[in-house]
Amino acid sequence: MHDPTSDDPEGMTIRERSQHSGPAPAGTASAGRSGLGAEEPLVDRLGRGLDDLRISVIDRCNYRCTFCMPADRDYQFLPREELLTFEEIARLAGLFVGLGVHKIRLTGGEPLLRKDLPALVEMLASIDGVEDLALTTNGVLLERMAEPLAAAGLRRVTVSLESLRDDRYGAINGVGHPVAPILRGIEAAQRAGLEPVKVNVVVQRGVNDDEVVDLARELGRRRCVVRFIEFMDVGTLNDWGEAKVLSAREIVQRVAAELPLTPRARRRASDTALRHEYLGGTPDGPPAGLEVGAIASITEPFCGDCTRARLTSEGALHTCLFSHAGLDLKAPLRGGATDAQIERLIADRWRRRADRYSEERAERMASGSRVAEPKIEMYRIGG
Ligand code: SAM
Ligand code: SF4
Ligand code: SF4
Repeated sequence: MHDPTSDDPEGMTIRERSQHSGPAPAGTASAGRSGLGAEEPLVDRLGRGLDDLRISVIDRCNYRCTFCMPADRDYQFLPREELLTFEEIARLAGLFVGLGVHKIRLTGGEPLLRKDLPALVEMLASIDGVEDLALTTNGVLLERMAEPLAAAGLRRVTVSLESLRDDRYGAINGVGHPVAPILRGIEAAQRAGLEPVKVNVVVQRGVNDDEVVDLARELGRRRCVVRFIEFMDVGTLNDWGEAKVLSAREIVQRVAAELPLTPRARRRASDTALRHEYLGGTPDGPPAGLEVGAIASITEPFCGDCTRARLTSEGALHTCLFSHAGLDLKAPLRGGATDAQIERLIADRWRRRADRYSEERAERMASGSRVAEPKIEMYRIGG
């Protein structure tokens, strides 16, 4: 079995072929012709601004989570020279910030597999206007990386963890990795000041839904803000079906039945997270006031407030988690385009954006129709 704690992505023994479908279509030919300048308010066709940028720093992963990149497939990853360099990522990030982005999250694949990641964090943290710099990780390498990342300027970390039981966790992560190192990684992040540590839990009915309360209790006791996530139909490999989705409302009900909760006001009417806080008073349970939430991306989708752009590790801009068509920014970047030219490409793409995949999925589910659209895999776009 491949050792997931190795930080050398090249050293993976899992066969890495076939699934990589190559760079997304360039789409640069028509970009920039709109005549719209960056000085005009940057909103898309549904009136949404550009606030957040998710940057995938690598497409490789040391896990093979069943809901993301199942172990029974072969994967083909990008050759090293196709990955954006840190300088290229920082240059693009600066342009996105100039267009309104103030929150950046690093993701992957598994971002901690990218060599010298703290150096990139330092470059991004020094960009004027970056108010929030966060990272999503499976936590395997977090115990040793938390301190250098925090020292480099990382503000927050989200760790993904689906079970507290080694046998189940090992089956879900696809490589048999145990739970304890992840909990140690969370502790290291807390010691490094990356608090509150958030924990993403993808809930699948019949797989880990019976652990929702245990996860809430144990991770709450450890002062982690747990975000339960409805199992999503990302990518094409995870055999998604409605029957495997436990709704966010049911998740919250199950937690509240054992650990008393009170709702928190939604920050925005369109907030998809059902946010609650513990009332406390449960022996050995989460402290009063600690937040816990559930993301209802399937059962109560709201794309109307989606202000997030995604940059893949090969430098393609995607304006929706589910969109296959990305805008190639690497070619102009490496072809000598000026900052103004690249900024225009990004702004033009954003202005033409009309993505609302999750709402459309809900409409299709309600009408019983099924349309198989081409979708990008989650490990390539980053969650
Ligand atoms: N490897 C890192 C990790 O797992 O945290 C970062 C990348 S991962 C693609 C980002 C997030 O997407 C994780 O929290 C993961 O649990 C979530 N995710 C992956 N597949 C999902 C699915 N089918 N439904 C819901 N969330 C999913
Ligand atoms: Fe890797 Fe994260 Fe996908 Fe799991 S969810 S396979 S850890 S990228
Ligand atoms: Fe945003 Fe696409 Fe998700 Fe809708 S489906 S919230 S547009 S990423």
